Amino acid sequence: PVVTPENDPFNAFVQSPSSSHSPGYASWVDQLNHRIDQRRLRPLDGVALGIKDNIATHDFPTTCASALLAQFTSPFDATVVQLLRQAGALIVGKTNLDEFGMGSTTTHSVHGEVVNPVPFLNEPQSGQPLSKTDIHDAHHSSRLSAGGSSGGSAAAVASFLCDAALGTDTGGSVRLPASYCGVVGFKPSYGRISRWGVVAYANSLDTVGILTRTVTDARHIYRVLAQPDPQDESCQTAELREKILAKEEADTPLAELRRSWNGENLRGCRVGIPQEYMLAELDTGMQSAWQQAAEALAAKGATIIPVSCPHTRYALSSYYILAPAEASSNLARYDGVRYGHAVETEALSAASSSVGVTPGLYSATRTHGFGAEVQRRILLGTYVLTAGAFEDYFVKAQKVRRLVQQDFDRVFRTFNPLHIDPSPSGNPNDHQHNYPKVDCLLTPTALSHAPTLASLRGQSELTSYINDVMTVPASLAGLPAISVPFSRIPCREKAETGSTHTLPIGLQLLAQYGDESLLLSVAEALE
Ligand code: GLN
Repeated sequence: PVVTPENDPFNAFVQSPSSSHSPGYASWVDQLNHRIDQRRLRPLDGVALGIKDNIATHDFPTTCASALLAQFTSPFDATVVQLLRQAGALIVGKTNLDEFGMGSTTTHSVHGEVVNPVPFLNEPQSGQPLSKTDIHDAHHSSRLSAGGSSGGSAAAVASFLCDAALGTDTGGSVRLPASYCGVVGFKPSYGRISRWGVVAYANSLDTVGILTRTVTDARHIYRVLAQPDPQDESCQTAELREKILAKEEADTPLAELRRSWNGENLRGCRVGIPQEYMLAELDTGMQSAWQQAAEALAAKGATIIPVSCPHTRYALSSYYILAPAEASSNLARYDGVRYGHAVETEALSAASSSVGVTPGLYSATRTHGFGAEVQRRILLGTYVLTAGAFEDYFVKAQKVRRLVQQDFDRVFRTFNPLHIDPSPSGNPNDHQHNYPKVDCLLTPTALSHAPTLASLRGQSELTSYINDVMTVPASLAGLPAISVPFSRIPCREKAETGSTHTLPIGLQLLAQYGDESLLLSVAEALE
């Protein structure tokens, strides 16, 4: 079906060139033609990109899908947006999300929910353009969640509304929607891509991620974005990048072996299967896809090795303490004075004229401005940071986070460039264990395929938090991870919805901190 961001039926875009904030499509086409004539093309010339609406753009509002920022336009572009524009990309619009990135379904948005395009793209073509009214009929049995919180970005890429999109991934928000929508979702190591101009959710976990239809596309965009940025203190320094590069380019047999891996050849590559990811809740179709994926990698020469990351089971609880704690502190800035929408009730105006300051302005603004899920996170986060709960929750969660990180360092064959310097043997972890060491890990991205939007209504929040169980460990450890669409499984809700669809699912690959090159090579082998 021919759809454009202007007639996007999936609600993937919240701002597009048809709005008054047009990025100048015509002049971009002129410039592109000129560059083609001059044979001076830049790396992303001709590439149409969607940007998640929690990433600042000077020419479109940046709403974070919140009523609080509905009118907010940033005076500057985020570093990632600057880099994309410099490389020639056209920003075609801003994509829908769960408010401030909090959620796994893209249903908590002031712009309305995103509809997963997959079932509609599969339907026999009637020759009719997809109609927004039809797709937004709440009773339509094919309405599935696009996943979240970067659901708009995943839906936009899956439905060919753009070539690629940026998302943010704090606990899985790029990988989960990628899995549900059948696209690639790549979250590089923490600090690899600048977060300057990206609205903070949980600073110690936030990363910018890339959604594309192929791993190769993700690699191209990643190359443009992986730059040091003095504006972001947590962005990897040039020095650290050199250290990582030196490890890749080292003149050792292991480094040479790693450089030989590509989409066709994984000889000598050790792929770990962490047994703790084999959960009872895992869909049987997902289980067999996981096994098939391991076989596919083995067929290209990889050795499959069962490994154990024993603290994985505590990762989700730790994440849902740490992320809300950081969020509650970050969101304190939205008070109606410094940013965004201020609620002026009659009572408030009367009070302000007599007192000068507006008592109640903060609470009125925040009560009306934040959606229910964001308010829940603020309460949760504020609670775990109170004196009475701090030791029992926040401190314990930090300890669990460290243990999860150590689990990963223990299973990977190469050292973590953040922690230890290489020993003369090239591997400082050697002495720690005689565990079989691996180069990357293979797990499912999600428990199952995309849920129907109808099944989410009335579901407890806890149920929706469980969807992040496969993705949060890499986030806690800051590791690079990618979800690659692998196969399709029968729709579980078939009986209820009468749907005959099979739905896409993704498998996740994780690698040591800084090992993006290796991760992308193995991901290409999985495609
Ligand atoms: N679903 C997770 C949460 O709500 C992850 C969100 C994200 O990665 N931005 O916190």
